[in-house]
Amino acid sequence: MSNNYLCPRCKGYLNVGDHLVFNVKTKKPRGGLIFLSPEIGNYQVIKHPHFELEEGELVEFFCPICHRKIHCTRNPYFARIVMVDSEYNEFEIIFSRKVGEKCSFKVKEGKITEFGKHASRFNDMFKSLQSNQPFKNI
Ligand SMILES: [Zn+2]
Repeated sequence: MSNNYLCPRCKGYLNVGDHLVFNVKTKKPRGGLIFLSPEIGNYQVIKHPHFELEEGELVEFFCPICHRKIHCTRNPYFARIVMVDSEYNEFEIIFSRKVGEKCSFKVKEGKITEFGKHASRFNDMFKSLQSNQPFKNI
């Protein structure tokens, strides 16, 4: 079994085939579906060509199943989902909501792995994730 990705709110599966599916809203305001790679650190976005995402825009992420916002409570600049690996270990995956910004964190009880060339912009976030907060409060 490969990794599964879940909505942190309804625990529905966000991975379908080789993609993670999200409902996003832009400032325009306009909504659309995007596919992201389940490989953390791969920032390829697949979308309908008429659904435009502006570079640098902060988009809102919603679960396509329960339609709730899936932003990180500790820092709403980031979106947050849950990853379950093949041995049923749970991780929090936190990634930037800014279009074109390559920054993700994989978190498990204060152990953090960072991904993406822009991750160094967020050293404060990295430190805050390391602090000893309950897992579910991320
Ligand atoms: Zn959901």
